[in-house]
Amino acid sequence: MPDDETREERTRDEGTTDDPIRRRGQNDERPHDPDVDPYTAYHDFDLPAYVGATGSFQKLPLITEGAALAERRPDVAIIGAPFDDAVSHRPGARFGPRAIRAATYHAGSINSVQLEIEPFQWLDVVDAGDAPVTPSNIERAHDVIRRKVLEVARSGAVPIVLGGDHSITFPSASAVAEVVAPRPLGVVHFDAHADTANATWGVLLSHGTPMRRLIESGAVAGRNFVQVGLRGYWPPPETFAWMRANELRWHPMTEIEERGAEAVVADAIAEALDGPQVIYLSVDIDVVDPGAAPGTGTPEPGGLLVRELLRAVRQVVGGVELVGMDVVEVSPPFDRSEVTAAAAHRCVLEAISALAAKRRAAGETPNPTRLPG
Ligand code: MN
Ligand code: MN
Repeated sequence: MPDDETREERTRDEGTTDDPIRRRGQNDERPHDPDVDPYTAYHDFDLPAYVGATGSFQKLPLITEGAALAERRPDVAIIGAPFDDAVSHRPGARFGPRAIRAATYHAGSINSVQLEIEPFQWLDVVDAGDAPVTPSNIERAHDVIRRKVLEVARSGAVPIVLGGDHSITFPSASAVAEVVAPRPLGVVHFDAHADTANATWGVLLSHGTPMRRLIESGAVAGRNFVQVGLRGYWPPPETFAWMRANELRWHPMTEIEERGAEAVVADAIAEALDGPQVIYLSVDIDVVDPGAAPGTGTPEPGGLLVRELLRAVRQVVGGVELVGMDVVEVSPPFDRSEVTAAAAHRCVLEAISALAAKRRAAGETPNPTRLPG
């Protein structure tokens, strides 16, 4: 049996309890040691995903205050936007952020098999908590979401916003556009629906209108707003006429069926970057076929495979300078076995891993996620 000093040294070397920067995953290659006190053997970050009370994304540090974010300057910050009062059909996306945060079985320093990188060794990733929304007041909710995203983006972090219905993209992308100005913002938008209506039953801030508001407000130029995956029976011809008049570009699902997702996404990236150098990525989970992602408000048959969407997220994030992202329209009450929440959760992990791989490819140095001791 080792003496106390040796045990303390080993504990420190393995970073189990008092290392403020956790460089390695703690669990899988660690030999069983009967001398380590099981009560303190694992940091919360390294315990199983279902253990622990904070509920933060991947058990990452919860840094909710703007001043603390500004001081820390993380690389990426997760934000919840639990708001669904702007939906036109099935509600429930207000429960999306919690479900997406919970849709993981991974703990500790995860390893992307796709990109062969441990993203939390390369990027300081935190959970900034939820925007302080309240129900039944679209303007108020959008205002606090915009301010929350502003706080995060001004700290230098890439905000990744968990919706919420798609109306939240108007305040979220507006905030990002404000922070990157005067650089123009391009948008790549995955969705079954264009979300470019003028109004839905007279409501200007519904989840069917955010892209119209972004273009009308000048946050994004129409010609750099590029949509992928459109299908079904909405919007009407008049809305497409407005989109043409404002130079939007879109790639319907039929084009993906004919040309394949990778070629279409490559065109979408080039169009969004035709002028701008930075990109906001908006993923409506209903771009995925409802057979694989039933937990959403306006399911439209005939969509992407989850593997196509995850590859597309890696392709976009790996190929552009990403300055903001959202994943929206996950409605847990309509989900089955959490498959929709898991697909949304993996969209976020694919984006984080692609950001990390870009940093490595650029020859930059790692900036490991700093965990509380
Ligand atoms: Mn949408
Ligand atoms: Mn949609």
